[in-house]
Amino acid sequence: MPARSKGTYRLTDFHIERTLGTGSFGRVHLVRSRHNMRYYAIKVLSKEKIVRTKQVEHTNNEQAMLEIVQHPFIVNLWGAFQDCANLYMVMDFVPGGELFTLLRKSGRFPDAVAKFYSAEVALALHHLHSRDIIYRDLKPENILINHDGHIKIADFGFSKMCDNTTWTLCGTPDYLAPEIVRQQRYNKSVDWYALGILIYEMLWGYPPYHMEERNHFQLYEMIQQGPRCIRRWPAFERWATDLILKLMDEDPTRRLGNMKHGARDVFAHPWFKEVNWEQLLQRTIPAPYVPRISRAGDASAFELYPEDNATAMYGISAPDPYGVDFPNFEHTSPTP
Ligand code: AMP
Repeated sequence: MPARSKGTYRLTDFHIERTLGTGSFGRVHLVRSRHNMRYYAIKVLSKEKIVRTKQVEHTNNEQAMLEIVQHPFIVNLWGAFQDCANLYMVMDFVPGGELFTLLRKSGRFPDAVAKFYSAEVALALHHLHSRDIIYRDLKPENILINHDGHIKIADFGFSKMCDNTTWTLCGTPDYLAPEIVRQQRYNKSVDWYALGILIYEMLWGYPPYHMEERNHFQLYEMIQQGPRCIRRWPAFERWATDLILKLMDEDPTRRLGNMKHGARDVFAHPWFKEVNWEQLLQRTIPAPYVPRISRAGDASAFELYPEDNATAMYGISAPDPYGVDFPNFEHTSPTP
């Protein structure tokens, strides 16, 4: 967005068009700037829900992380503000929808397609880790596809600034590393573990311990046993299997990405042999799938959600009992 600095936006700067997605704390909307007429995505989070579910720290982290991170494969945050009831984050609108949707439509990805997305994710993770940020919620739902087919990782709700180890149990069950399930301290290597799960899911259509009837207890047992409890390993390309198993190593000190050479071991793995990492970062390697976007603001790649009059409570004037919990979310009055 032009000339205005971060934190000076307000709701009246935007026209809300529709809902793009929902989360446990609020919604993401497609909006159009009344100033430059460009489209953005605004994530709206209810302060009351965040406080009630004890997610204050995670939410403040999300805004803080996104503000410091700038990378071609990570969604850009243009500004943040709040009113008495909600927090608002103004981001790039990423029009191609979720990798999750593309994967479910395709069933599985061919080896080269999975490799392309995995390689872009690996670059994004490396960037985050080099800034001491653990992402902690890698999964196809959080990987969005941009207009040019390259990825943008969204949802930093679980990310954390951490140069050592931490212990909070958070993430998405299928993608949790064994040390998280065991409630041990863990470090950024949990993201490399999740990359292993993601590669498996892209190549197979489902994550390794997928079960029709979801039972977290069984799932956590299997995660702790590790890949040896998978009776029939799919016939992936041999180096794909090798990489997945090395990323899923249950001992974080032996896990690829977390050893002496860090992410360089991942980049140098034979499955990625043909990847030119420089060109990939420059986005000069053509993407395997380029979404059909008919016009700016085309959100047809996103599911339709009932609008439920959700915006009725945005921008109203009322007491703000939770404002103290979010001191660094820039506050601007919703009504001029
Ligand atoms: P989140 O709560 O951040 O996971 O967002 C929920 C859903 O909203 C995502 O899974 C996407 O479908 C959608 N979404 C989030 N951020 C954006 C964005 N910047 N552009 C387009 N859609 C988004």
